[in-house]
Amino acid sequence: MVMNRAPLLFPPAVLQSGAQREGLNSLFKRLCGFNYLSVNAVLGQLVMPITGGDGRRLTRMGYPGELINRGMEPSSRIISAIARLTACPLNLEALTFGELAGIPGSSAIGMAMYRKWCPRCFEDDLATEAGAYERLIWSLSSVETCHTHECLLVNKCRHCGKGPFRMLLGRDLPGFCPACQAWLGDESVDRVSKQDPNGRFLIWVASSYATLLNDPLDDLPDVRESFSRILYALLDHRFEGVQVHLANALQRNRSVINTWLHKRASPSWMVLMELSYMFQLPVEEILRGNIDCVEFSSEQVPPPTTLVRLSNPRKKPKKRDPDELSRFLLRVENGELPGVTTMREVAVRLGLDPRELSRLLPVESARLSQILKGRRQAAGQLKRQEYRASLQRHVPMVVRRLLDDGITVHRRSVDQALAKSGIKSRRSEARYVKELVSEAMSFFDSLEASS
Ligand SMILES: [Zn+2]
Ligand SMILES: [Zn+2]
Repeated sequence: MVMNRAPLLFPPAVLQSGAQREGLNSLFKRLCGFNYLSVNAVLGQLVMPITGGDGRRLTRMGYPGELINRGMEPSSRIISAIARLTACPLNLEALTFGELAGIPGSSAIGMAMYRKWCPRCFEDDLATEAGAYERLIWSLSSVETCHTHECLLVNKCRHCGKGPFRMLLGRDLPGFCPACQAWLGDESVDRVSKQDPNGRFLIWVASSYATLLNDPLDDLPDVRESFSRILYALLDHRFEGVQVHLANALQRNRSVINTWLHKRASPSWMVLMELSYMFQLPVEEILRGNIDCVEFSSEQVPPPTTLVRLSNPRKKPKKRDPDELSRFLLRVENGELPGVTTMREVAVRLGLDPRELSRLLPVESARLSQILKGRRQAAGQLKRQEYRASLQRHVPMVVRRLLDDGITVHRRSVDQALAKSGIKSRRSEARYVKELVSEAMSFFDSLEASS
């Protein structure tokens, strides 16, 4: 068998620390590619036998690919296999979220089921010797934007339209579509709008995680301890010690606040991010329990997820299957339902209140709302172009007719004549019509002068 001739060659190194560091998933794929082996072959014949599994059956089903970057157990299987096969000099634990997962008292960190990428980061990688690689931070379920380029991460190939893709697939190289092998880099992707509270929150979440990856996090106290200190400080500093007010601001009920204050439960990572955003407290200071930062806190419009609770705190949420909802969202994102152009319509189709939808799926909803907004803008632009094209055709004819009939050419007469041709006047295009009219007039004048 080919792979019995270990060690495998190690691919060129890319960043192994900081926010732009490579993910273990990416290194594993590059290692396979560099040795002309498919991911499936290496998983099936090398990784699984080590862990005692039946290679063939486990190749596809056995390894939880979406957990490869989480750190601790699922990652360590791959790490020990790579170490055995390559005599690798690197600390591969650094390519996982092991450090975050290891913070005492912290909640489990949410890993994305499907891969996401920044087309602009891939484009930047073209200039480097090692080539494209996937960033560790992209594998978090709540990270939906690139912290460097501030654009939405992408999960579908723009050439063949396929996706989203699982974390590890048979033939799989970072930067290329696993379905059609096309290059996934793209420089023309737009930034997320910061005018939009959804967009601001998404960027905040991504850059908070980026900061955590940039700074060493050793010697952190227990999260429950730090979070409780911060809550007490907020309580004193902003809510005059009244727990109800703090509970209202965070839109959790008082008993939840109480368990946090008494260190009986860990806040989820999403709660940490929400609190961080709402009071503009750096998330690493919350983790350190540094209450000095509370003094400089400022209140922001709460993130969309919290807004929902604010406006409707008592309503009991209907039980809905989040998987079913997110499949529907994905269909809208894929353009399978062209009639659905706003989040309100998405919610109506699902029989939900729009706020309820963004409470149930905060990240996916925020992402879809950005995408739909982009589509609406593009559609608006197209309509405007079409409208202008018909003005270009009709205005000269209208002017000619008015001149021939001896009618004075001014705004009202032009508008009336256009209306007869089925073109309603639009206030926003009045200037453009005026330009076209004067262009036509001077054209006809010059004809007259030359005859
Ligand atoms: Zn990027
Ligand atoms: Zn493709």
